[in-house]
Amino acid sequence: MDSSKSNNPVYSNTDSGKVDISDEQWKKALPSDVYHIAREKGTERAFTGKYWDHKDVGTYYCAACGNPLFNSNGKFESSCGWPSFFEPISKGSIIYAPDNSYGMKRTEVMCGRCRAHLGHVFEDGPPPTGLRYCINSVILDFEKAKGLEEKARTKK
Ligand SMILES: [Zn+2]
Repeated sequence: MDSSKSNNPVYSNTDSGKVDISDEQWKKALPSDVYHIAREKGTERAFTGKYWDHKDVGTYYCAACGNPLFNSNGKFESSCGWPSFFEPISKGSIIYAPDNSYGMKRTEVMCGRCRAHLGHVFEDGPPPTGLRYCINSVILDFEKAKGLEEKARTKK
């Protein structure tokens, strides 16, 4: 956990208990860009996030609460400008809601632990799922898989 999380009492990579705190508490706990995406359902501009072109092996966590959301092996290269995944890390890691804002019929995806807005899921992804989870980089924390790196080193 880095120092930017020190104001965040709910952040945990291991506690899967549901988080339900007020927007006021979230405002204190989160940096303003994360709050804007997570609680105000904002969208970062395409090709500006830190993970749309990110290829390291590891795990993506919810930046608001630490819940594991995606594995790098569920990520694929998409030209849309946001990090794109074809499957979440587990079934319960994400929840879904219909979103008919801006005159579009879309499906919103939220963190299964704290209900932070993550992005949307579309049905134009690659096999095996055919899904494209289009996620804001701002709401993701990435942790490199350490074990794999060590294995690669010992091989040399
Ligand atoms: Zn969360």
